[in-house]
Amino acid sequence: MFDIVVIGAGISGATLAERYASLDKKVLVIEKRDHIGGNCYDFYNQDGILISKYGAHLFHTNYEDVWEYVNRFADWYFYEHRVLAKVDGQLVPIPVNITTVNKVFGLKLKTEQEMKQWLKKHQLPNQNPKNGEEAALARVGKVLYEKMFKNYTKKQWHKDPSALDASVLNRIPVRTTFDDRYFSDKYQYLPTGGYTKLFEKMLDRPHITVRLNTDYFDVKNELKGYQKLFFTGPIDRFFEFKYSLEHQLEYRSLNFVWETHDQEFYQQNAVINYPSSVDGDFTRIVEYKHFTKQKHPKTTISKEYSTDYIPGENEPYYPVPNPQNRALYEKYQQEASQLTDIYFVGRLANYKYFNMDEAFKNALDLFTRLEEK
Ligand code: UDP
Repeated sequence: MFDIVVIGAGISGATLAERYASLDKKVLVIEKRDHIGGNCYDFYNQDGILISKYGAHLFHTNYEDVWEYVNRFADWYFYEHRVLAKVDGQLVPIPVNITTVNKVFGLKLKTEQEMKQWLKKHQLPNQNPKNGEEAALARVGKVLYEKMFKNYTKKQWHKDPSALDASVLNRIPVRTTFDDRYFSDKYQYLPTGGYTKLFEKMLDRPHITVRLNTDYFDVKNELKGYQKLFFTGPIDRFFEFKYSLEHQLEYRSLNFVWETHDQEFYQQNAVINYPSSVDGDFTRIVEYKHFTKQKHPKTTISKEYSTDYIPGENEPYYPVPNPQNRALYEKYQQEASQLTDIYFVGRLANYKYFNMDEAFKNALDLFTRLEEK
């Protein structure tokens, strides 16, 4: 008999399991995959190199409570993420900053004021951008939009930026300085030894039982007598796709093509983005050793290809934020809110493009809301 049942052992599930175990509740975690950690899962491949099965995960946060919480389960080392993008044959930093503009346009801007003037001349001002295209045009103007965002977004989402919410393109800031960090959060750290170890520590409690290789939908009729159930999978799957007959609730999936090279490093940076169609269909190449700091004579890279999510065939990664999907999600959400003692939490169940820290925050806040009543 378990007090709490958690479906999924990713950030949301592990956080709720850990929190309830701390109240001496007996917790059952059911995980379809053969490992914990959700999409943060990392492991040593056959060459002994630490890689992330589901792509790079760079933790960054401004939430003090999240930072305090994750520090309970790992030592964290400082890592500020930087990304380069291949534009017209050269590598330029993204987010767009002074160096980006100087390199792409052969300029010599030096000051914030010069950069602000440059942006002012090129931006298409828009107080209230209605979609990703308008958002990017308002931030960087037409030329940089076309060179760095338009086609990358098409590769990533298989949609034109105009068919996505502004929030997708607004994830990437524009800087009027030389600051080329991908994130500007106060805390930018990675867990020593990797994320899987962190999840092991979170879940390694006598009150938590983890059942791997178990699909909730195969065992749900056996689960009885619990006080609360937390579901972290795709919300439409929970309701057997009942509202999706004409239009599916969309998620993007990813296909990783892995290569190990007999050399210490393959590329100069952890992540290089390929926004142009001339470079192939992959969006980016990730080289893990740059951020794991592992010393090894070989190196493993992955090329990321975005694909449609097909339930049962591949994994859902990204909800696709746009008005149609939001409307459909709201129908499921309405249904979900009628259920007692069943809670939907996380990127797939809340259908929100959460960053890692937001996933922790959301789960911690839900726990506080439920248990401080
Ligand atoms: N994006 C882009 N060009 C880039 C990087 C990002 O157009 O070089 C756009 C693209 O639409 C992408 C979104 O910005 O989906 C968010 O990028 P982010 O790096 O946050 O995506 P994630 O790391 O979550 O896949």
